[in-house]
Amino acid sequence: MAAQTKKIAQKRIEYLYELAKRWSTQQRTRDAKTAIRHMRKLATKHLLSIRTYKRDYCKNCNNVFTATNMHVRIKKKYRAITCHECSWITRIGH
Ligand SMILES: [Zn+2]
Repeated sequence: MAAQTKKIAQKRIEYLYELAKRWSTQQRTRDAKTAIRHMRKLATKHLLSIRTYKRDYCKNCNNVFTATNMHVRIKKKYRAITCHECSWITRIGH
């Protein structure tokens, strides 16, 4: 039973992620943020990993990164993504 619930949660996470992506390209930033917030909540509750998505949203304000609302700096050991909404820096690959 628990495994089943986890599977459903995983599916919902994938769905919410798709929605967030779509909404962010349609300038529906607030809706996208809500989707990300729900997604993270689900992941926490069901102990699911959303590591693969971590470079796609801001950990601090749940902003979904698009081409215009962030910038990337390549460092020697990691990639730094700066969020334009809250200036939070996500470091990938260290
Ligand atoms: Zn942010």
